[in-house]
Amino acid sequence: MSSSNLPQFNDTAQAFQHLTDAELRRAVALFSLIGKPWLVNAGSALAHLALALRVPLAWAVKPTVYAHFCGGESIEDSEETMAKLAAHNVRTILDYSAEGQTAESDLDATCSEVLATIQAADGDARHAFAVFKVSGLSSNALLEKVGKAMAGGAALDREDEEAWERVQRRVRTLCEATAAAEGRVMIDAEESWIQDAIDALAEDMMSDYNRDRVVVFNTVQMYRHDRLTYLEAMAARAEEGGYLCGVKLVRGAYMEKERERASQQGYPSPIQPDKAASDRDFDGAVKWVLERIAQIHLVAGSHNEESNLKLCQWMAEMGLEPGDARVSFAQLLGMSDPITFNLAAHGYNVAKYVPYGPIREAIPYLIRRAQENTSVAGQTSRELSLLREEQQRRKRN
Ligand SMILES: Cc1cc2nc3c(=O)[nH]c(=O)nc-3n(C[C@H](O)[C@H](O)[C@H](O)COP(=O)(O)OP(=O)(O)OC[C@H]3O[C@@H](n4cnc5c(N)ncnc54)[C@H](O)[C@@H]3O)c2cc1C
Repeated sequence: MSSSNLPQFNDTAQAFQHLTDAELRRAVALFSLIGKPWLVNAGSALAHLALALRVPLAWAVKPTVYAHFCGGESIEDSEETMAKLAAHNVRTILDYSAEGQTAESDLDATCSEVLATIQAADGDARHAFAVFKVSGLSSNALLEKVGKAMAGGAALDREDEEAWERVQRRVRTLCEATAAAEGRVMIDAEESWIQDAIDALAEDMMSDYNRDRVVVFNTVQMYRHDRLTYLEAMAARAEEGGYLCGVKLVRGAYMEKERERASQQGYPSPIQPDKAASDRDFDGAVKWVLERIAQIHLVAGSHNEESNLKLCQWMAEMGLEPGDARVSFAQLLGMSDPITFNLAAHGYNVAKYVPYGPIREAIPYLIRRAQENTSVAGQTSRELSLLREEQQRRKRN
């Protein structure tokens, strides 16, 4: 493919075709508000307070941020969003994330709900992957302890051993169901102090289910300075074990939390020294995986235009078709539509995370989206200017 065939992320007609004029106005209003850090901070504090006081928020949240960033309150409720995405060749990754649960019954309930997303995807080509967070299936305290035990720094008592057995069983249930449904499942990456346990689980599942095709994908966060080394080691273990790897590459979502904990507890931060180092390793990892695409299938989870474009360019240089099933792109619902829909229009495999669940439980997720957009000021203003450009274009036509 020559470079003139590469997607143009500023094609606003293509990018926002799926939005009605009213939805476009709502997006402009939302991104204008999100672009004001003082407002996001005040709004986030108020939302936390309202949650703590159990003040109903649905009336304000549902028609605005929730409608923009979430599919609905249930899988059926997300149907309209899935259909709309599919109409533009964008596939869905249903994302049910319950956060911070510890009771065994809650962990089982999350497992059942994720299982429902896997079953919903069975035989329905609109779904690209299933996804889950191990922290939805285990307490964080247990994951941290298991990680330390694996490194030889702690011992698990009988109760921990039994709880860990249950976590492994839940993860296996989900991977096995995905394999039976001929689907694919991604395991999200989380904070570094629980990631060793998550990586061990993910590699165990890849070794069991990725023998003939790639069912299970682990996630690698390139904002960590040690992850290129980890990626190579993970691939070497797969080669030695005779199974295929699936990897979702991301930059990483917990930078402030990681740095704060490292400084409070007096250990070196696992995060790269600066953004340029995260960018270099993200792009480096993408290229490294592409060069081994027969053994490692790739999902690039990023809203960064340059990284997405580089991936398209490298695919072309290596003679991979845009629609090569071993390479997928993914963004979050309501963010970076110019990237998603222009990739789709050029025949790339692209999907959106579609978070769903009760409004109250989605509020921490929505606050993170608003804060993330505020902290990446350049991206928000870029998104806003493209949305405004599309409004102008529609007025002219
Ligand atoms: C489909 C999808 C799935 C995702 N899954 C996960 C997941 O499983 N786990 C997870 O942790 N995150 C996940 N993320 C979030 C992701 O890690 C990023 O936080 C987010 O996408 C922003 O990064 P970017 O590549 O889109 O773009 P950019 O806006 O170019 O990069 C912003 C990112 O760069 C890094 N960064 C910013 N400033 C600095 C600095 N000063 N020093 C070092 N690094 C810096 C941070 O990681 C920051 O989030 C996912 C994102 C997507 C789109």
